[in-house]
Amino acid sequence: MKGDGAACLLLSQGNHREAAVRRRYKSRLEEAMDRNTSIIEVKGVGEKTRALFAKIGIETVGDLLDTYPRDYETYREPVKIESAVPGEVCAVHAAVSCILNEKKVRKLSILNINISDGSGSMQLTFFNMPFLKKTLKQGGFYVFRGIVQRSADRQGGGLLSMEQPRIFGLEDYRRQADRLIPKYSLTKGLTNQAVQKCVRQALSFYEFTPEYYDAGMLRDNGLTSRREAVETIHFPADTASLAQARKRLVFDEFFDFLYLMRRNKEFSERLQNGYRLYETADTVRFLEQLPFPLTGAQEKVWKEIKDDLGSPFCMNRLIQGDVGSGKTILAVLALLLTAANGYQGALMAPTEVLAVQHYETVQGYVEKYGLAFRPVLLVGSMTAKEKKAAYEAIASGEANLVIGTHALIQEKAQYKSLALVVTDEQHRFGVRQRENLAQKGENPHILVMSATPIPRTLAIILYGDLHISVIDELPANRLPIKNCVVNTSYRPKAYQFIAAEVKKGRQVYVICPQVEEGELEDLENVVDYAEKLRNVLPPEIHVAYLHGKLRPADKNRIMEEFAAHSVDVLVSTTVIEVGINVPNATVMMVENAERFGLAQLHQLRGRVGRGASQSYCIFVSTKDNKETMERLQILNKSNDGFFIASEDLRMRGPGELLGIRQSGEFSFKIGDIYSDASVLKLASDAVEQLLKDDPHLIQPEHERLQRHLTEASANSVDFRSI
Ligand code: ADP
Ligand code: MG
Repeated sequence: MKGDGAACLLLSQGNHREAAVRRRYKSRLEEAMDRNTSIIEVKGVGEKTRALFAKIGIETVGDLLDTYPRDYETYREPVKIESAVPGEVCAVHAAVSCILNEKKVRKLSILNINISDGSGSMQLTFFNMPFLKKTLKQGGFYVFRGIVQRSADRQGGGLLSMEQPRIFGLEDYRRQADRLIPKYSLTKGLTNQAVQKCVRQALSFYEFTPEYYDAGMLRDNGLTSRREAVETIHFPADTASLAQARKRLVFDEFFDFLYLMRRNKEFSERLQNGYRLYETADTVRFLEQLPFPLTGAQEKVWKEIKDDLGSPFCMNRLIQGDVGSGKTILAVLALLLTAANGYQGALMAPTEVLAVQHYETVQGYVEKYGLAFRPVLLVGSMTAKEKKAAYEAIASGEANLVIGTHALIQEKAQYKSLALVVTDEQHRFGVRQRENLAQKGENPHILVMSATPIPRTLAIILYGDLHISVIDELPANRLPIKNCVVNTSYRPKAYQFIAAEVKKGRQVYVICPQVEEGELEDLENVVDYAEKLRNVLPPEIHVAYLHGKLRPADKNRIMEEFAAHSVDVLVSTTVIEVGINVPNATVMMVENAERFGLAQLHQLRGRVGRGASQSYCIFVSTKDNKETMERLQILNKSNDGFFIASEDLRMRGPGELLGIRQSGEFSFKIGDIYSDASVLKLASDAVEQLLKDDPHLIQPEHERLQRHLTEASANSVDFRSI
């Protein structure tokens, strides 16, 4: 970051100074920025910073403004040095008592400064900021804000210190004190101040598109203007205006999504295709020879699918079923039926690990039942040579069961006769990805599998473009999972229990919280935790770990080892959350359970209890306050995903600002279908109203919407090109 140290001081000079800089700059800048202006046009962004931004997916001014803070902090009144708490962010108002000599370690300049305020003293360390020797005055008072540390000195006492604190004049500090300071997700080398500064710059030059909605509509729905919302989400004056800004942005996000889906629905409902697929001897025999009979619910859904596939219209169906209800076999049946009719079927999964698992399942069936079909895998981590072979087999039609990740929708993948598209565990903006895959064929049938058990009222809104089939029954051989919610003191017992289950030949998952980009310490959690388990568990127990930052090929290998039972205990982040099926695993232990949403915890729990043996789920909470425990008790009481989802909705209610985010298929950028359920309803009503007022909007020539959709271009799909 160019002149970051100077920027730090400059920022601390407060708003008037910045406004002056802005005015000067504005007169030099002829053209205003728009969404597509490259980030490099923002003042202070050089090639190096551009590259850092690119790392976190920010290339344009629009990307930057769309990257909302992940949290906010407030600047509290400075405290006395004697009451500064090690490990916490503190501000102290103190005098510079001594500026020590600058040291050089290789290329690094280290400057130590002592400060004191009468109650105590503290040592500050600055890296590569030698100019502070001159800028800070001996005896001068400043506010220093940073993380307080206590280092043991030789006498056994503790020396308080801060590294690289930010420096303010008292007045300037107080001016910031009543505001909420945004905290952005960062990458190494990019500071929060730097991002803040860029956002400020961008906001002042950004040419906002005019408001999409008319004043009446904004008033009726209690929404602020788009412009105000974008400015406020980055720099809120207080929590009330932040909540207002958030509401508007959530509304827009839901509105776009629902509007696109409605257009899609109108379009696809009238769509016909030439593939009428019927049962053949192969599929009938396959069903007869399956090692288990289909449940009643599976039977019912299979019939619905067959009816769709045999009709002249395109199928657009969603299978909704709780975790472990057996959705995969229905997808496999539909794929086999397609291949048996001489066409290609494709199955797209959100992760490589899951794609590989599905491929192996299908491959296993094909071999076992001697079916004359050819499955092929297509995932990003395959070598160029492997991919080329897969592309060729897909293009020639020789491969008729195509299974993979997003690689399936890349340009190079050309299909000969794609008649069925299945997407598993739909996630974020499923609509768009589904469409991209559908474009690979001529109006193929579409089957979507979802494991997010959402309350029916929400499902109708969120899946408005699909017919819904529900599997509301688990296979009969299942024992209900036994749950417990405990605090950390239970850990030693849990480890004993794990060791005993492993001894019985079972396998175990231990989940540690997901990590934010850049939070290296947390990332080590999984690694450290695995190490810790290796020490406490008997040496013959094989412990492995998995996290999102591993190379895809490594993730696949570890999962395969776990599936093949050469690993007994898998310590993982939530990367294993969706779809993983290892029926021999019987224990799921979730650390820091309080950090996850209930629906997500239910998904995690769904990784066990997938076979005939008794399974167990241990939720470990580091917080044992009443509220947390009550929330977790819901999981303890019930194994029913639909019930849990509606309880979650009931407990969390609307208006949660930065609540626990649910991951999964509906992870919108800012909206949360649970805590923002009321805004979702509002947006849904607004879309319906709009279409009622002007049914021709389905062919969106409407100017207002055109603008809206251009603004939201990142999420838009041109359905006319299907
Ligand atoms: P999900 O619905 O979570 O995707 P899967 O399709 O992966 O669940 O199925 C979970 C497990 O249940 C698999 O091991 C699968 O073979 C098994 N299964 C599916 N249907 C039945 C059934 N009718 N009877 C017994 N086991 C079944
Ligand atoms: Mg599944």
